[in-house]
Amino acid sequence: MKAFPFPDKINSRQELARDLHYHKIPAAERDKIADRAWETGAKAARELIQSLPDADIYEHVKHEGLTVEFNEKDNVVGNLRYFSEYFCAKKKIIMYVGAIKKWAESNKLALEKALEIILAHELYHHLECTKLGLTSKQYMVPTLQIGRFKWGKSSILALSEIGAHGFAYTYYELQGKKGGVKAKKGLMNAAINVNQFRRTKALEAIYKTNPLIRIVQKKRKGGSQHE
Ligand SMILES: [Zn+2]
Repeated sequence: MKAFPFPDKINSRQELARDLHYHKIPAAERDKIADRAWETGAKAARELIQSLPDADIYEHVKHEGLTVEFNEKDNVVGNLRYFSEYFCAKKKIIMYVGAIKKWAESNKLALEKALEIILAHELYHHLECTKLGLTSKQYMVPTLQIGRFKWGKSSILALSEIGAHGFAYTYYELQGKKGGVKAKKGLMNAAINVNQFRRTKALEAIYKTNPLIRIVQKKRKGGSQHE
């Protein structure tokens, strides 16, 4: 069971190493393509916030036409715990609140924040599915390679995960800088400054001080699942 599925920019480069096609990516290309995927996500988060500065994550999700289903179960399959699933064709996100609660508790994170981060992650998958194009296709490798013969083309699924990390990280960071949505509505005061400080600390705790964690992306019923 993993605590934190959300690494920072440098750690997220290691996502690539878990990709099925990792060995086909030249070593000199790896950091470059990982950072490009991260930046794609970060840019999308900046643009999303600019487009609707007062919206919270639930309003963003609604604005994109997504429905969110909250399922109370702690979704454990085998030895993996899944936090959420996204279904592009159905425009639907399933949040496994039981699993997310455990994740939040083990990391001293308010459930509300944990939900926000995970929803942002899934929202990115929706944006890449509908608007941005799949980040996984930013770099293609041959599906099969024997000697100098190559067949087919495969995308790198880990790049989509890195993009989603960049998106969720940047989203959370930017919302924190402005003290959350309420600050935009004229409630900036000492209490919010304290809140802002706490968010910064929480962000550091989430992304910097914790070991990197595996995200296993498995295709099931056309959806992607997040451990
Ligand atoms: Zn993901």
